[in-house]
Amino acid sequence: MSEWWEATRDHRLLLQHCDGCGSVQHYPRALCITCGSSDLSFREAVGTGVVDSFTVVHRAGEPYVLARVRLTEGPILLTHLDDIAEPRCDMPVLLAWRPLPDGRHLPVFRSADGL
Ligand SMILES: [Zn+2]
Repeated sequence: MSEWWEATRDHRLLLQHCDGCGSVQHYPRALCITCGSSDLSFREAVGTGVVDSFTVVHRAGEPYVLARVRLTEGPILLTHLDDIAEPRCDMPVLLAWRPLPDGRHLPVFRSADGL
């Protein structure tokens, strides 16, 4: 996962593409989950998707939204939704980045409505 995390320093979300069968997967694995090939390469995601499902997590402090986002390339990313008051399934979302203390970034998503 280190190459994947390093790319987040430059706000790049990498997806693993299989050069054998053309499928796209996330998270990165040693083998293609479709055909078993180890012929895999990283490409940058376009950063768009739709909400597949979500749950509002209530803890001490601010509630937050944990979501499964289906990326335009196909894979599902488990992530957070930022600044979305009323999330709904199939809502279009855009990639955003939340800084981490060590300079890496966590990929999160915001509403694409109104753009
Ligand atoms: Zn494959």
